[in-house]
Amino acid sequence: MKSQDDVPSKKSNFITDQIDADIQSGRFNGRVQTRFPPEPNGYLHVGHAKAICLNHSIAKDYSGLFNLRYDDTNPVTENSEFVTGMREDIQWLLEEDLESTPLHTSEYFDQLYAWAEELIMDGKAYVDSQDGETISEQRGGFQEPGVNSPYRDRSIEENLGLFRDMRSGKFSDGECVLRAKISMSHDNMNMRDPIMYRIRHENHFRTGGEWCIYPTYDWAHGQSDAIEKVTHSLCSLEFDSHRELYDWFLDQLGIEGADRPYQTEFARLNFTHTVLSKRLLKHLIEEKIVDGWDDPRMPTLRGFRKRGYPATAIRSFCEHIGVARTNGTHEIELLESFVRNDLNQSAERRMAVLNPLRVTITNWPEGHVEMRTAVNNPEDDSAGNREIPFSGSLFIERDDFMENPEPKYYRLSPGREVRLRYGYFITCNDVVKDEEGNPIEILCTYDPETSGGKAPDGRKIKATIHWVSAEHAIDGSVALYERLFSTEHPGDETGEPLDDVNLESKSILEGTKLEPSIGDLPPGSIVQFERLGYFHLDEEAPLLFHKTVGLRDEWANIVKRRKNA
Ligand code: ATP
Ligand code: MG
Repeated sequence: MKSQDDVPSKKSNFITDQIDADIQSGRFNGRVQTRFPPEPNGYLHVGHAKAICLNHSIAKDYSGLFNLRYDDTNPVTENSEFVTGMREDIQWLLEEDLESTPLHTSEYFDQLYAWAEELIMDGKAYVDSQDGETISEQRGGFQEPGVNSPYRDRSIEENLGLFRDMRSGKFSDGECVLRAKISMSHDNMNMRDPIMYRIRHENHFRTGGEWCIYPTYDWAHGQSDAIEKVTHSLCSLEFDSHRELYDWFLDQLGIEGADRPYQTEFARLNFTHTVLSKRLLKHLIEEKIVDGWDDPRMPTLRGFRKRGYPATAIRSFCEHIGVARTNGTHEIELLESFVRNDLNQSAERRMAVLNPLRVTITNWPEGHVEMRTAVNNPEDDSAGNREIPFSGSLFIERDDFMENPEPKYYRLSPGREVRLRYGYFITCNDVVKDEEGNPIEILCTYDPETSGGKAPDGRKIKATIHWVSAEHAIDGSVALYERLFSTEHPGDETGEPLDDVNLESKSILEGTKLEPSIGDLPPGSIVQFERLGYFHLDEEAPLLFHKTVGLRDEWANIVKRRKNA
């Protein structure tokens, strides 16, 4: 596992070194152009965020171009909802509008088709009339050569005729494919006559019924980069064995020099307690384990956003981890620490009581209400102050009272004095219980001399607790989340990540008592509930707060443990 310290910083890394060298040598005449090429078959996750931030920041740093290109080559799984959603998510992440209009691989279908005919005419591609299963059986394996298709030596005329028939709809799905003619005994499996076109009688969300053959990713990807004049194609590591094939295609098409994109691979982002694959994420939705792509437990950008993760925190995290050449897994606590640090600076503080227990101050003047001044954000003076009503009837957190306190429990208990944040010192004198013996009301007295948070005689108080005034409090609810996967590496034991899913990872608490100023927060606000953590006010549901992160810096503990190990 990677620690915070052993990853290179983004400012200079093997990718920027390559770009610097290319600028020096004039390879692309000084141009830098990158892209982010998602397949619109789901919503974006935090792994994609890494690729987006990397490509976008490189273009920016080198005053180059960054494009969003939808790799929309599979009409069965893709749709325009995902296209729109991905763009929204990218703009949210980058906090800027994309300068260039998004591009689509489907815009290049004509060109790709023409190039495929060119390959056929050069004797470099053929129509194979075998079914998919046979073709994959014939691929062979590691150190085991594949088997030539009986259709491999069809004449150019026959291939051209058949390919045109494929295009015009003469065949049904799966009846034949177009394959590159490279070598069935090549060491690199990707070079064993890979499939370039499949027949799919499906409506495409952009091209409608115009096509019934669709290019494979392998055939479309490098050529799309070339068409767009991408200079640096940055891919995740799993594409490194495809590079040879991409180069082969470019060679056959005579795409050379400054027109030829250069591919560099970087490590995929992985997190503990997390799966990052659209397929698996989709499965969580289909199985109703989560509520949708934007469920706050999901590692999608939508989920993070609903949870309250600031885009700046995600970008800072991506910059911090930089790029690496070997795959590794980051602790999710590291990302959370970026979120916490960000919110510590920006989020206003409020008081809220999640599990209320009533406190009555017996020596408080009947009916009296006093406005207390509270600091909105100790990290930001410009956030100012607010007034909170204090009265003789309050709510405190249930677990801030213990009738028979354990050792080291310094909060409220019979005979014990605590400080109320922005309030007074109170001492517990009595407990009212229900029939089952559970405390339902605590009777206290307050010390009017402690208005400034200190006692004039200098007596020390070990605990400060938060509160809200009972008659002024407004009711809300909070959604609390635990890890969606209980194990660090989901599926490590059984091979099936979903086996490790935590079905109890969400709970909703109703009847939360909120200080009155919370009623004025605009939807989407993120606040710190003092002593409890950061919470995001839902955009739609009134007074529903999603817990973003707690206050404890778990990442610091991991670092400490590692140092001591
Ligand atoms: P998924 O399996 O989640 O669908 P993918 O790679 O198939 O991921 P694409 O939509 O094809 O999804 O990905 C678009 C780009 O995002 C690719 O260039 C890919 O390299 C990059 N990418 C995807 N996942 C990660 C990740 N975990 N870390 C870094 N980059 C990623
Ligand atoms: Mg994919």
